[in-house]
Amino acid sequence: MQFTDSHCHLDDKAFKEYLPALLTQCAELDIKRIIVPSIAPDNFTQVLSLAKRHHDNPIKIYPCLGIHPWFLKGLDDSHLDQLSKIVVASRNNIIAIGEIGLDGAIAKNAENHGQTPEDNWHHQKHFFDFQLNLAKEQNLPVIVHHRQSHDKIMPFLKRYKLNRAGIIHGFSGSYQQAIGYIDLGFKLGVGSTITYSRAKKTINAIKRLPLECLVLETDAPSMPISREVMGQEVLTVNLDNEQVENGLTVNSPANLAVNSPVNIIKIFEVLATIRPEKPDDIAIQLERNVDQLFFS
Ligand SMILES: [Zn+2]
Repeated sequence: MQFTDSHCHLDDKAFKEYLPALLTQCAELDIKRIIVPSIAPDNFTQVLSLAKRHHDNPIKIYPCLGIHPWFLKGLDDSHLDQLSKIVVASRNNIIAIGEIGLDGAIAKNAENHGQTPEDNWHHQKHFFDFQLNLAKEQNLPVIVHHRQSHDKIMPFLKRYKLNRAGIIHGFSGSYQQAIGYIDLGFKLGVGSTITYSRAKKTINAIKRLPLECLVLETDAPSMPISREVMGQEVLTVNLDNEQVENGLTVNSPANLAVNSPVNIIKIFEVLATIRPEKPDDIAIQLERNVDQLFFS
């Protein structure tokens, strides 16, 4: 069996110290590919150079470029212009536009940062729209972040009808919501949410969906696996409920090293317990799904 972590912030400083050891560990576990989205202009070159530096490594690192809705504060059209330019210049090295998206919790809490929720939505949508357009122009798939925002994301995806679609990262939601994305050609990122037994709605959806629409991801160092699955290895985390999907801060010290790409194996094991297919068949199909989306 071979595995791909379709979403890992491997350039995060949480991994800096032990990256070579971590990649060795991944190789031992047959985790062969790691897809690394960027989150803000600050880390565009970091993500690109990480992939370049490890070019000869048996573990392949694939970068993506995009601006995450959590990091829009202080950003304007000049940053979108910067993104466009670097995407065009790196077109042959990147495999997607991401991580982009819309986040309802960020809009709701905008007042704490002196912005109305309406203004915040406007800002988020402007960035999302621009980046979807960029993906369309460049014929690239997208990696989409969602949180309390399925109803807002869907009209954008329907409008753009991206040829290569992409991944709804860290999918959390109902079967119906999942089908809506799948009908548009998207795959769903299966991550640590399914390791929390209280995430019943998401687990039920993942159980019933076509296997051809799923990919594995850790979102490391965010989104730790549940204590139920990891035992005492995991620190206490604030994962309020399944509606608050990506409720952790990427660089929060509390999350340092509590999640890493090696956990793709744990997520796979949990997935295998909820799916009807044999584990070997699941693993083969999940790899095919990644191939089809990014490498065909
Ligand atoms: Zn992420």
